[in-house]
Amino acid sequence: MSTATAVSPATPPAASAAPRQASTASATDRFSFPDASGHFGNYGGVYVPETLMTTLQELETAYLEVREDPEFQAELAHHLAEFAGRPTELYYASRLTEYCGGAKIYLKREDLLHTGAHKINNALAQALLARRMGKKRIIAETGAGQHGCATAAACAKFGLECVIYMGAHDMERQALNVFRMRLMGAEVRGVEAGQKTLKEAINEAMRDWVTNVRSTHYILGTAYGSHPYPMMVRDFHRVIGREARAQILAREGRLPDELIACVGGGSNAIGLFFDFLEDTQIAMIGVEAGGTGLERGEHAARFATGRLGVLQGCKTYLLQDQEGQIELTHSVSAGLDYAAVGPEHAFYRERGRIQFAYATDDEVLEAFQLCSRLEGIIPALESSHALAHAVKRARELGPGKLLVVNLSGRGDKDVEQVAALLGQRG
Ligand SMILES: *Cc1c(COP(=O)(O)O)cnc(C)c1O
Repeated sequence: MSTATAVSPATPPAASAAPRQASTASATDRFSFPDASGHFGNYGGVYVPETLMTTLQELETAYLEVREDPEFQAELAHHLAEFAGRPTELYYASRLTEYCGGAKIYLKREDLLHTGAHKINNALAQALLARRMGKKRIIAETGAGQHGCATAAACAKFGLECVIYMGAHDMERQALNVFRMRLMGAEVRGVEAGQKTLKEAINEAMRDWVTNVRSTHYILGTAYGSHPYPMMVRDFHRVIGREARAQILAREGRLPDELIACVGGGSNAIGLFFDFLEDTQIAMIGVEAGGTGLERGEHAARFATGRLGVLQGCKTYLLQDQEGQIELTHSVSAGLDYAAVGPEHAFYRERGRIQFAYATDDEVLEAFQLCSRLEGIIPALESSHALAHAVKRARELGPGKLLVVNLSGRGDKDVEQVAALLGQRG
C-alpha cells in the first residue's frame, strides 16, 4: 500500500535554491516556480498593503525552513495519518466504469478524510506551522464553511485560538457549519459588507491580520492569494498526488492516462496534478463551475470568459467587467463559486500543460446522483464537477485507458440542497 509514500517527507528544493530555467522549456521544471518574486510566469506575485510585506516574507522564510525539516515533516505525516485519516484509498469505480463503457475510472478518496474533504491537509499543516512560528491565534475565511470547519478542527486539536470570518449571507445559508465551528471552539464573525459572502470575508480577515500580525497567522484555504500561499498550500496538498501515483502503479503497474479535478481556488487539483507534471504523456484537466451557462454572473468559469487582473493579493484570471469591477458568480457548489483562480493553474494553462473545462449545474446534479446510485458514494457538489467531466472523457478515451478523478469531498453537506433542487425540478 501507499503508507510509505504518505509519510515520506516533502523534500523539493527550496524555491530560492531551484535552478532558473528559460520559460520556453516544457513543463519539466516545476520546482523553478514560483520565482523569487512569487510569480508563476506572468501570474501570482505579492499585492498587499505595505504592513503585510514583512509578515509574508517571515512566513515564506518559516515555511521554507519547515519544508526542509524532516522533524516537521514527520510530525505532519503523523497527524495526517492519525487525525485526518491518510492515506486515502484509490478506489476503482467499477460500476461507473461499466456504465460509461470506456476508460477505467479511479477515484482518489479525499472525501474519506476527517471533516469531509481535502481541506484538512492544508489546515492541519498551517496550524502546525503557526505553532512552530510561535503564533497562538489563527484567523481564516470561509465561504460555505468547509475550510472554516477544517481550520476550527485543527485549532481545537492544537489548542490555538481560532477566529473565522464568514459573510453574513453565508452564515444564514450554512447555519449548521457555523454551529459545528462553534462546537469546536471557534469564534465565527459575520461580515455585513457588500454581497456578504466569501470575497468580503477575505477582506475582513486581511484587515484583522494587518492589525494583529504579531500574534496571528492567517490560514488561507486554497492555492490562492499572495506568495507564499499558492506555493505553500500546493505543497501541503501534494500528498494527494504522491499517494495516487504509488497507488495506481501498485494497482495497474503503470501511470494513468488522464487526471481530472475540480477547480475553485485550485488546491485539490494542483495537489493531485503536481507530482505528475513532468510526465507529459498524462493529460490533466481542471473543471470549473459552468453554473447555469456562460452568461455574465451565471457561472465561475474564469478561464472561459475571464481576463487578467489583480484580486486579493494575486495576479491571475478574473471574472471582471470592462471597468475591472469583479463580476458576480454563480455555482450550485459554494466551494467553486469564486471570481478568481489560483495563479499556478493560469501558468500551466498558458503553457498548455493543464487544460480546463467546465460543467454546468445540471450536469453536476446528474453526476452527483450517478455516483451515489452506482457506487454508493455521495460526492460533494464540487467534486461532482470533476465526475461530470470524467463521465464524458471515459467514453472519449475508450477501454484500456486509465482515468484518475479527485473526489475532493463528500456530499453529506449537500444533500439538503440537492433534495430541494430536485424537488423543484419534479
Ligand atoms: C473547497 C472545496 C473545493 C474547492 O477548492 P479547491 O481549492 O479548488 O480545491 C473542492 N472540493 C471540495 C469538497 C471543497 O470543499
